[in-house]
Amino acid sequence: MGKVALVTGGTRGIGAAISVGLKKAGYTVASTYAGHVEAATKFSEEHGVSVFRWDVAHPEECAAGIADVEAKLGPVEILVNNAGITRDATLHKMTFDQWSAVIRTNLDSMFTMTRPVIEGMRARNFGRIINISSINGQKGQAGQTNYSAAKAGIIGFTKALAQENAKKGITVNAICPGYIDTDMVRAVPPQILDSIIATIPVGRLGKPEEVADLVTYLASESAAFITGSVLTINGAQYIAN
Ligand code: NDP
Repeated sequence: MGKVALVTGGTRGIGAAISVGLKKAGYTVASTYAGHVEAATKFSEEHGVSVFRWDVAHPEECAAGIADVEAKLGPVEILVNNAGITRDATLHKMTFDQWSAVIRTNLDSMFTMTRPVIEGMRARNFGRIINISSINGQKGQAGQTNYSAAKAGIIGFTKALAQENAKKGITVNAICPGYIDTDMVRAVPPQILDSIIATIPVGRLGKPEEVADLVTYLASESAAFITGSVLTINGAQYIAN
């Protein structure tokens, strides 16, 4: 059995592509999901990946879920913190629930998921932690103060954690995707989506598999000197606007 890779939100969208990419590269993959049981079951059957259900915003559920994964598959050596949600509104119309749901799922999850695995990684002198941030955490996006704040927070978390663990064979990196063709982006009204695509110099949305390939590289032994980095994958959208 290959090293165990745990991918949160790993049954749909970018996370599903990451799970499949890591499985093809020889890892033993565990993918988590929150509530879409049918999608998760179908994904598991199609790709032979073990799936686990818990809420990444909930510390006790994460600790119990990770203990379950480790009991069944072995110690988690690669952690991909990918699960994320949007609850868009301009701040003057945003409710505290919309703010809090996004901060808890997208940012608190960095702590709730990483805390239970980091001591084991340190003891084994090996680990790969890959956090999925966003272009909107780098540049800020109107209508997404909650999401932009959480995704920017992931970048600070990544840089601090990388320094804490650099001598322990553990790398910690953030990936900032631009607009990638998943359910999250398909939920954007078509006219708005067309106007977004017009700002991407490459002229199209990114593919989940393109993000997955970057994750697979960062997870590999070859990427040992890449840590504390923020990698962009956005078709030049960030520099062009
Ligand atoms: P999707 O909405 O397609 O999938 C989200 C995944 O996260 C699902 O598997 C979902 O589970 C899971 N999830 C959501 N909330 C929780 C929770 N509380 N606990 C556990 N799992 C949860 O998202 P994408 O694939 O588009 O996005 C993946 C990541 O990439 C996110 O962090 C997103 O912010 C980021 N990103 C996406 C971009 C894009 O253009 N798509 C651009 C930049 C960043 P379930 O299936 O059960 O709902």
